Amino acid sequence: MKNHHRCNCQIIPPFVIDELKKAGVDISAQTKSISKEFRDRRADQLAFRSSESSLIAPPVKNADRFVYDSKMTQNQRLLLVRKESGAASADPIVNTVYDNAGAVRSYYKTAFDYLSVDNHGADLILNVHYGKAYANAFWDGDEMTFGDGDGKIFINLANALDVTAHELTHGVVQYTAGLNYQGQSGALNEHYADVFGSVIKQVAKKQTAATADWLIGDEIMGPTLKGQALRSLKAPGTAYNNQLMGKDPQPAHMNNLYKGSGDNGGVHINSGIPNKVFHLVAVGIETDKAALLWFETLKTLKPTTNFKSFKTAVSTQAKKLASAGKVPAATESIVKQSFQAVGL
Ligand SMILES: [Zn+2]
Repeated sequence: MKNHHRCNCQIIPPFVIDELKKAGVDISAQTKSISKEFRDRRADQLAFRSSESSLIAPPVKNADRFVYDSKMTQNQRLLLVRKESGAASADPIVNTVYDNAGAVRSYYKTAFDYLSVDNHGADLILNVHYGKAYANAFWDGDEMTFGDGDGKIFINLANALDVTAHELTHGVVQYTAGLNYQGQSGALNEHYADVFGSVIKQVAKKQTAATADWLIGDEIMGPTLKGQALRSLKAPGTAYNNQLMGKDPQPAHMNNLYKGSGDNGGVHINSGIPNKVFHLVAVGIETDKAALLWFETLKTLKPTTNFKSFKTAVSTQAKKLASAGKVPAATESIVKQSFQAVGL
């Protein structure tokens, strides 16, 4: 169990929240205060749980879904409104997030025979209507939580399959490689969340690498910024450019690697570089084969893996999977070219 590498992974990065604040949008102030309170409470809960359960092996469960309504408070697991095989709710957002979590669970089981975030069938806990106009969604090491958005810039964060897939994949990363949420390993953590956010959206929409839009978060943009997105795996740095959010800072090449300390050392920024690599490989061998290659690689990574060692790990798995006939013979050379295209 590598569950010590937890992150508080939010889909909307801190630099976007800061830009909105500069533009006078007040959801930023509220988002920050909620996050601070959330971190303090979570730290207490984790300290309690690790002291009581460190010697007990986790039981194998059925990956049941539980949807809770936070009722616009900052409480998680407040009111249970839908559970596995239970009746649908009168609240459409409850049913949407239930279905989306089911699609993510089903994808990992079908594609990789991997059950829930931990491959031990952990319950999938989903909290909706968190906070007042809270414009974010996050995985906190145990469960997923979604705000309603402000309705203008961001609509309800629980609406989009790619957001749910992104956040649950942070859980998968936590229980496999346990990539540290800082610097290049943190950017790889974000990268994996974006990759499977996009892949699972492509499966649901029956798209191919060529027909997919490769965008993350386009379905949570409100009326003010309709048509923009949070990130683009195909063209990092082009997802948005507007007076409210500023300009998408993601690099698509090592020459433009972000070296500052913001955003945990650029975890949502430098993820653009491996994101671009994944897009190129998927175009070369198709998305499902690229996803298999990436998932098999994930299981071999260390918490401190950087971009260079990631390239080596993907190449090693490409060779292995090609020998076993699970990916095309050309995969190793396509992988090499794709990493070269971003300066790796
Ligand atoms: Zn994330």
